[in-house]
Amino acid sequence: MRQSLYFLPTLKEVPTEAQTVSHRLMLRAGMVRQVAAGIYSWLPLGQRVLDKIADHVRAEQVKTGAMEIIMPTLQPAELWQESGRYDDYGKEMLRITDRHDRPLLYGPTAEEVVTDIVRNSIKSYRSLPLNLFQIHWKFRDEVRPRFGVMRGREFLMKDGYGFDLDEASARFTYQKMFVSYLRILRNLGLNPIPLRADTGPIGGDLSHEFIILAETGESQVYCHQNYTSRAIPDAVDYDDQDHIAQIVKDWTADYAAADDLHNPATCKVPDHELLTARGIEVGHIFYFGTKYSTPMKAAVSTESGGLTNLHMGSYGIGVSRLVGGIIEASHDDLGIIWPKSVAPFQIALINLKAGDSACDSAANLLYKQLTSSGIEVLLDDRDERAGVKLAEADLLGLPLRLVIGPKGVAAGTIEVVERANPSNKREIALSDALGFAVEWVKR
Ligand code: ATP
Ligand code: MG
Repeated sequence: MRQSLYFLPTLKEVPTEAQTVSHRLMLRAGMVRQVAAGIYSWLPLGQRVLDKIADHVRAEQVKTGAMEIIMPTLQPAELWQESGRYDDYGKEMLRITDRHDRPLLYGPTAEEVVTDIVRNSIKSYRSLPLNLFQIHWKFRDEVRPRFGVMRGREFLMKDGYGFDLDEASARFTYQKMFVSYLRILRNLGLNPIPLRADTGPIGGDLSHEFIILAETGESQVYCHQNYTSRAIPDAVDYDDQDHIAQIVKDWTADYAAADDLHNPATCKVPDHELLTARGIEVGHIFYFGTKYSTPMKAAVSTESGGLTNLHMGSYGIGVSRLVGGIIEASHDDLGIIWPKSVAPFQIALINLKAGDSACDSAANLLYKQLTSSGIEVLLDDRDERAGVKLAEADLLGLPLRLVIGPKGVAAGTIEVVERANPSNKREIALSDALGFAVEWVKR
């Protein structure tokens, strides 16, 4: 992408309405714009990151056997009256009336809709287990939307729903999701901490929140320091029940709790091993048995000929919240530091002197070569001062920067800098730049 043609409305001034570093950086880097309180438009750069995160989530969920669907954002109130949640959900639910005076709502979550689909489509235990997910917009009329996309009112969530014949099978589904969440968050360059959680209005008896540490996090976290260095397997066979159970066991062996469940009097971790920090909830998984299938009559025939209510769980990841969360975890004073896995482009190719024919031809050639090697490059070909370009590259935070300037071109060299390691600048031969960059991006 040529920056001269790209819609990238960066801001030089620090926006005063933004309280957190990720919100400030997302506004300054031209990723989002607020439309109303807690409601955002995603501009091209932000949209690319959102898509990358969604792709990671999707890829790892599909490996577990889950299948992607898409349900409407608007839901009929009737389904929620059936489950008994319509009145309970309270003011966070945005209620809407259509022209026929039928009550609708903008879905804050989709247990009812998916249960309705499944109860109408599945009659036999032979169709189970079934795990359906979507990556779609939710609306919750939060009292205090804040921190930009981290606590929005409209936000993008991966919401998955597991349907199983019995509790044992549903617990295995839960464990697979637990492991899948560890893998997803690791693939996003994050260090997840699973906390035993309260089940809240979704209900049920088994639940974990996945937290990433950040100073501006809304949750207070108490956990054994082991969580900061625990290994996540590189690849997992999701059919291997024993291995999945073992990973969950390892990951829940040590103490980890949020504020509401932490009790200093009963916590056995010695003070010097207890990590006390702020964290951001990026995922939440629940097993809630037949809480919805019973009132909604979602049942299947069993092998012995009877009928049994489905055992269910639900599995959420805050895709849009993660954009802010990743920036909270990875930035410096100058701007964002994107992990390769979610960077909107892998390479910032900067032509320091656009208009100079030697610089232009070197930059254009390398841009074409990189692009045809399948690498995502943002070529700064604008007629701007060198200082402006470099400062903006720091702000945007693309992982690898290649800088072409008149002196280098004359000497046949190009400057290479990793955004995560800015002090390590070096010159390499211009003729090696393509090979170097391709290798670096793959690594
Ligand atoms: P929180 O405790 O932060 O309000 P929640 O427990 O209400 O979240 P869940 O119902 O567990 O949220 O939703 C699943 C995931 O969706 C959360 O882990 C979070 O990542 C994301 N999420 C929830 N609410 C918001 C929001 N207002 N803005 C952005 N993402 C959100
Ligand atoms: Mg939650």
